[in-house]
Amino acid sequence: MNDQNDKREEQEEVGLYEKLASRTADLLEEGKKTFDEALKKAKEELSSAGDFSREQADKLGEYVRRDLKENADKAKDAVIKAVEPQRVAVGVQSAFTRILTSAAETLTELAEKSEKALEFKTGEITSPGTLTCKECDAEMHMTKTTRIPPCPKCHKTVFRKSY
Ligand SMILES: [Zn+2]
Repeated sequence: MNDQNDKREEQEEVGLYEKLASRTADLLEEGKKTFDEALKKAKEELSSAGDFSREQADKLGEYVRRDLKENADKAKDAVIKAVEPQRVAVGVQSAFTRILTSAAETLTELAEKSEKALEFKTGEITSPGTLTCKECDAEMHMTKTTRIPPCPKCHKTVFRKSY
């Protein structure tokens, strides 16, 4: 794969990730759905519309869930404060804000799945935040949704994330 193809594929995945997060938020706002149901429905809709392959939908769905969970952990005490628009990058974060404020059960639901520390790996798509290399502690500050590159310092591929 050459660099140009790689870049195009990254743009495409970032776009799909944001579309999926945003559609999940829409479905939650329409009501009567848990986060899991809304995410599942958003995946089905977008893959049957031909935007996603089923495999891509599952993969990006897991990325969205993980990033949202990270946001939810930070937001336990004050959801609105933690995700208020001026404190975070725009774009996908507004979808997270909508998800967190429209599903009362979302925080509990996600908290139950948060026992283990999450790893973020090179090649995965993630929302804005700071990634710290587990090998050398170098930090990368992401200001928009992006595909995770290797560590700029030691070229390792495993990170933890903070906001
Ligand atoms: Zn490193």
